[in-house]
Amino acid sequence: MGQPSQPRLQVEGLWHRFGGNGAPWVLQGINLDLREQELVGLLGPSGCGKTSLLRLIVGFDRPCRGRVLLDGQEVSNPAWLRPPERRNIGMVFQDDALFPHLSVWENACFGIRLGQDRDRASWLLDLVGLGGFEKRYPHELSGGQRQRLALARALAPAPSLVLLDEPFSNLDVEVRLRLRSELPGVLACCGATGLMVTHDPEEALAICDRVAVLNEGHLEQCAQPRQLVETPTTGFVASFVLQANLLPAQRLDRQTVSTPLGRLGCLSDRTSIATDTPLQVLLRPEQLQLKAHAQGHGRVSCREFLGQAWLYRIQLGGLTIKLRQPLSNVLTINQPCVVTIDPATVPLLYPQRIPLVPLIHQLR
Ligand code: ATP
Repeated sequence: MGQPSQPRLQVEGLWHRFGGNGAPWVLQGINLDLREQELVGLLGPSGCGKTSLLRLIVGFDRPCRGRVLLDGQEVSNPAWLRPPERRNIGMVFQDDALFPHLSVWENACFGIRLGQDRDRASWLLDLVGLGGFEKRYPHELSGGQRQRLALARALAPAPSLVLLDEPFSNLDVEVRLRLRSELPGVLACCGATGLMVTHDPEEALAICDRVAVLNEGHLEQCAQPRQLVETPTTGFVASFVLQANLLPAQRLDRQTVSTPLGRLGCLSDRTSIATDTPLQVLLRPEQLQLKAHAQGHGRVSCREFLGQAWLYRIQLGGLTIKLRQPLSNVLTINQPCVVTIDPATVPLLYPQRIPLVPLIHQLR
């Protein structure tokens, strides 16, 4: 077996905050490696620190603690910074940031130094489907074409790493889906490693080799999409990636918890529920059942048509519960209802990830 290749990017123990001592930490002890030709998604809710991490990797900001390495060479630490223009990193932003007064060809060649081979720009324009558009100006292109040009321009100087900050968010659905499926192929053709920021779990899971989930400055899990979906290590990852419900749970004894949807017991009598930590039960929208019921404590607050199923949001006490139902189960907005846990499913108790079974069905 060959030696594993040197990581293209290494982020080691990175801490960052804006302002001096006392300001809140925006990034807390981030560790992340990107291997050659890997596309990694950086996924998390608004304000969790995604852009701040990109800025530290590019070299716009200096970390408070920790360091960044590119191809094994240190480029940032709290005392020193290699400037962005000397890092050979390509960048693609959500608003294409093209030069409006330059043609497609001039935009594509912008980062290529004098004397460097311009055939690469021509090859890249063909690769992203813009061959023949060289003389046009950005305002003469569609949104999708502009974003393709931004990608070609970022790749033209043959960077070893490309950072993409929500590159598809300003495009309409059809163009977004097409462009996102093309991205891995374009990066692979160029031998580039990519780090793509997104807040859309579906987008990250669909195209990335691995997905790093960031929450309030912490990297909660970095794993292949299938692993993230099948074995999320924290309740946050499970609820954010799977769009699942996290219900508060109270320990009744070493094998039983109570939740707003009834009691659940451990599937195995060899497990024991911890006493010293807040508990939550993860329930996917398809693990729940819904019935109209005049005495039910739930109220339908929202109903979305998903094509093959309904997505309902039910208000139950102070909670909003999401559940998926077959199209035959039609309830109307504000209708009183009962939500139960499907007895055939095995919800998980976090943080220990203990498999549970529903014990009694109560009217809720
Ligand atoms: P979004 O998805 O909304 O773009 P994000 O995950 O990229 O969010 P960041 O832009 O990295 O989040 O911001 C992380 C936190 O740092 C936020 O609380 C934000 O308000 C704060 N922050 C960002 N830039 C600055 C700044 N220049 N000065 C002070 N606080 C900042």
